[in-house]
Amino acid sequence: MPQPGPRTADLLALLGREFGADLLIDAAALSARSRDESGLVRQPAAVLLARSETQVARLVTLANAHDFAVIPRGAGTGLAGGCLPQAGNGPSGVVLDLTAMNRIIDIDTQSLTARVEPGVLTGDLRSAARAVGLFYPPDPASLATSTIGGNAATNAGGPACVKYGTTRDYVLGLRAVLPTGEAIRAGVNTRKGVVGYDLTRLLVGSEGTLGVITELTLKLLPHPKAAACLAAVFADLNAAMRAIISVMTRGHLPSAMEFLDARCLRLVGDLLPFAVAGDESALVLMETDGDPDQVGREVAEIEAICRELGATDILPAATSGTEAGDAGREAVWKVRRSVSTRIHEACAVYIPEDIAVPIGRIADMIAALPGVEARHGITIFAFGHAGDGNIHLNLTAQDESLRPRVEAAAEDCVRLALALGGTISGEHGIGLVKRGLLPLEIEPVSLRVQRGIKVLLDPQNVLNPGKIFPPDGDSDGPPDGDSDGPEENG
Ligand SMILES: Cc1cc2nc3c(=O)[nH]c(=O)nc-3n(C[C@H](O)[C@H](O)[C@H](O)COP(=O)(O)OP(=O)(O)OC[C@H]3O[C@@H](n4cnc5c(N)ncnc54)[C@H](O)[C@@H]3O)c2cc1C
Repeated sequence: MPQPGPRTADLLALLGREFGADLLIDAAALSARSRDESGLVRQPAAVLLARSETQVARLVTLANAHDFAVIPRGAGTGLAGGCLPQAGNGPSGVVLDLTAMNRIIDIDTQSLTARVEPGVLTGDLRSAARAVGLFYPPDPASLATSTIGGNAATNAGGPACVKYGTTRDYVLGLRAVLPTGEAIRAGVNTRKGVVGYDLTRLLVGSEGTLGVITELTLKLLPHPKAAACLAAVFADLNAAMRAIISVMTRGHLPSAMEFLDARCLRLVGDLLPFAVAGDESALVLMETDGDPDQVGREVAEIEAICRELGATDILPAATSGTEAGDAGREAVWKVRRSVSTRIHEACAVYIPEDIAVPIGRIADMIAALPGVEARHGITIFAFGHAGDGNIHLNLTAQDESLRPRVEAAAEDCVRLALALGGTISGEHGIGLVKRGLLPLEIEPVSLRVQRGIKVLLDPQNVLNPGKIFPPDGDSDGPPDGDSDGPEENG
């Protein structure tokens, strides 16, 4: 690691006096916070392991006084480089690690709300709510390792989004330290609230650029009494999509509707209890939850729809509540959860895209993929949340020299999604990784307004600078290519 210059050394001395042992500058601590799951590596100059909102506010106030960057960080499971310093050449900025602020302050079983600190792991909150008969629905696949603060900052979602929505739909209110160092309370403790501008919704999804979330008040639901999961194989992806749309248009709203294309299915087919015939076969997983009788009826109707629309194999519903049923559900979900790991293991170059398109255009998006593969000579694995149009496109190649082609193909996919009325990211956010692509989706006037909001809240640009917006000097018009080159990848 390069030695800190005199200014950095002075700053570290100042922060050390201020925060004592909570300021971490040892190599292991810095290295642990120099990466997330994006593949980028950016070393901070120091880490503050914050234990209170007061410390957070003090750090941000000092950042304004002494002109250094503060980068909020949860568990570092992000896929967009959002919790990393922006500079690529030497240590910079102070990473504000919020994982030690991890208390579940209160679960109110009468008001059906939870008050939590940002470092609580999402899975821990779900378990704590479950223990008192309540349900926190957002279910990013990373829920065992990611924090509620990170989920709120990225508006994380998962399979349950089709029925229950994303993190945003459960944040009633929050406390945050603004980029000026002032602490605020935004939102409400109630189910409704329409007073003033909705600063809660502005902060949720702002990727740590407009405020540091220090506490959240979350909406909980009664826990569904039962859930049942069904897996169906179709001759091809188009048939699978037709079944998914029919299930919804015939009045069902499953709590998950996932799909795997033929390539994904070949990678994880060994986890299914039957052999999948046919080279083009696609898998659909559907889950329904609620009252046991209703779940039983609904899953039977969904199974009938799948048969009517040509399912070649159906793994009958596994219903929660018994040991066999729980094990059956787990076995089905394991198939889905294993896909990205197996793609990662099987391919030398792997870029995960998480575009989303309107549900009715999923088939068009999928139909365009062979053209992208042929144009760039790469391979695409597609799976994801069919119920909400969020498709995980995993663009791959078997040789590192082909990375530029994979990147060009990724931009092609993004442009295709936009042409179909979609968005460039359904879940992972923009961070550093996609900031060059932002002008493809956000028109110039809207981009100017968004930059204006950042300047209003963060006049000195100290909070997570360089994220979301294209780098200074880049035009706000559509890019020729992403300016963040692979040479910055770790
Ligand atoms: C295996 C795997 C599966 C995943 N599956 C999903 C999925 O299904 N759905 C999905 O949406 N994402 C998924 N992700 C991405 C990632 O888990 C989410 O983006 C998650 O919300 C990040 O939480 P984190 O605590 O790790 O935040 P970090 O990665 O530490 O930070 C993410 C962003 O949030 C900001 N931030 C963190 N905490 C705060 C805070 N308290 N206040 C203000 N800003 C803050 C950071 O500055 C950064 O911009 C997955 C990632 C992996 C590795």
